[in-house]
Amino acid sequence: MENLHQYDVIVVGGGGAGLMAAMYASRTAKTAVISKLYPVRSHTGAAQGGIGAALGNLEEDRPEWHTFDTVKGSDYLGDQDAIEFMCNEAVQAVYDLEHMGLPFSRTADGRIAQRPFGGHTNNVTGKPVRRSCYAADRTGHMILQTLYQQCIKNQIVFYDEFQVMDVLIRDGKVAGVVAVELATGELHVFQAKAVIIATGGHGRMWEITSNAYAYTGDGAAVVARRGIPLEDMEFFQFHPTGIYKLGILITEAVRGEGGILFNAKGERFMEKYAPRIKDLASRDVVSRAMYLETRAGNDVNGQRFFYLDVTPETVNKYAELDGRTRPDGTPYRVTAEEIRSKIPDITDFCITYLGIDPTKQPIPVQPTAHYAMGGIPTNKFGEVVIDSNNTVLPGLYAAGEVACVSVHGANRLGTNSLVDLIVFGKHSGLRAAEYALGADFTPLPDDPTAFVREQIERLRNGSGKERAAQIGRELRSTMFDLVGVFRTEEGLTQAMEKIQELRARFREVRVADSGKVFNMELMQTWELGNLLDLALVTTRSALERRESRGAHARDDYPARDDVNWLKHTLAWLEGDSVRLDYKPVVITKYQPKERTY
Ligand SMILES: Cc1cc2nc3c(=O)[nH]c(=O)nc-3n(C[C@H](O)[C@H](O)[C@H](O)COP(=O)(O)OP(=O)(O)OC[C@H]3O[C@@H](n4cnc5c(N)ncnc54)[C@H](O)[C@@H]3O)c2cc1C
Repeated sequence: MENLHQYDVIVVGGGGAGLMAAMYASRTAKTAVISKLYPVRSHTGAAQGGIGAALGNLEEDRPEWHTFDTVKGSDYLGDQDAIEFMCNEAVQAVYDLEHMGLPFSRTADGRIAQRPFGGHTNNVTGKPVRRSCYAADRTGHMILQTLYQQCIKNQIVFYDEFQVMDVLIRDGKVAGVVAVELATGELHVFQAKAVIIATGGHGRMWEITSNAYAYTGDGAAVVARRGIPLEDMEFFQFHPTGIYKLGILITEAVRGEGGILFNAKGERFMEKYAPRIKDLASRDVVSRAMYLETRAGNDVNGQRFFYLDVTPETVNKYAELDGRTRPDGTPYRVTAEEIRSKIPDITDFCITYLGIDPTKQPIPVQPTAHYAMGGIPTNKFGEVVIDSNNTVLPGLYAAGEVACVSVHGANRLGTNSLVDLIVFGKHSGLRAAEYALGADFTPLPDDPTAFVREQIERLRNGSGKERAAQIGRELRSTMFDLVGVFRTEEGLTQAMEKIQELRARFREVRVADSGKVFNMELMQTWELGNLLDLALVTTRSALERRESRGAHARDDYPARDDVNWLKHTLAWLEGDSVRLDYKPVVITKYQPKERTY
């Protein structure tokens, strides 16, 4: 067979999770990374605010507090064994990054600087705690560059601009993956003992999103088509502060540095919804508050946006009212210069895209689709599990945003995704390499590229009655309006019908470009198919869950219902329908209680 490659471990994805996995797997296993983007263009590079770890550099902090905050932030849907593991490992993980050369911002005495972030608290006082370790507002960029350099140093093999379209499974075991080389259009078969999926999220199915164009859920869709369930897909995070209409993220760090949200009446509305930590409540709480303010007619100009004010006058006024102090006990006061130095990239974005200097004028913001809590179910070693008994599929692993461990449950806390990547990226890499040492190659199926060729043929031979771009637009607006911050039975049912209609229309699409070299029309159309599959799973899971929990807010079932719904959803894509099952949440130390901030 032409274009056949053999590795012990194949990592699909060159973002934070994939690079971390590759680094650790390559210690003992012959490892390669396949990435549709040049690795340093991965979405990890867009992460701004920081990585959470209880280093306690500026005030007392403990991994147990981080654990509890994460459990509470997850609205009790996160698995507590995995959360505890992650928060304990986070501290060493940050030092490991430091030792690899990551240029963190520093405190006056040279330690890693930390700042407050939504939902991270001192568990005794309930006040915000400085837990987010950062490199200005470019933390993800620095992580990605640091890890990539380490991978190059360790001579890991990269297949850049190769897009994986199928995972091969035979006799219940992983056999490899099939990828298209974008530069030539040729198919390649990678036989592997272990495959780690680290392909990131799928936020491009919503109209307003902070996510990169590449966030089309490829990894999740590919495994779903091979009969593997997806977990908790109804939980998708809307970040409260996207730039109005554009969706570009304004990091929570802006509120960490003292920024305040205002409604059209000039009220600091978060006081009503989270009396203790106000603007630093967790994201689901703030996004929902914005929706309720909109419904009450308090959005600006009736246009569903609000103001985020980080001008020194406002920051200093409210810091005084809140009694906020610096680590040395002196009152917290800032200058425009200090704000700019803490959030240089955000300042640039606002000037470039809005013509607004955020140190002089408030920023118009609205909720933006941001992060997939749900994904491919794994245990805390990154092994993919395929049913409600957590049966492992030998040789298949997932890590990063595409995976659902579940450490984020119904709502992820800011800074916890970068922790997730580093901790579970590392452990999935170690586990996969260990498995590969003791395993043989699973024989490839007779015609390994058959399913991929079939998918491509279909896209080339549709009737041409429909245009992919139009279907994409309708999908994104349907998802934003009906499967967004607030949901109802009626809206979700309507969305289901619309998605089925779009799926039927998608079968008529024909890709006009018949070339092989960088045929982006073909790949983007294939990606739209992935989003249509995941939209179906998301909406069906959301329709079934008749309660409100974390990011899943139902107008018709406003309360959390632990009696009936303290459980994870598992959803199998079966043609045009979705089969559901449920599995218990792991609860160790913290019994669910009401969530207040
Ligand atoms: C604007 C923004 C700001 C954020 N800020 C923070 C923050 O401050 N703190 C925090 O904790 N989290 C933050 N997050 C979330 C966090 O950055 C992401 O969840 C995380 O970086 C995802 O990492 P990953 O390794 O899973 O995926 P990515 O970094 O996106 O990498 C995915 C990789 O998969 C590859 N890939 C995808 N599909 C295929 C395919 N079919 N074939 C081959 N390769 C494929 C891509 O090429 C890419 O290399 C932010 C997210 C956004 C969007």
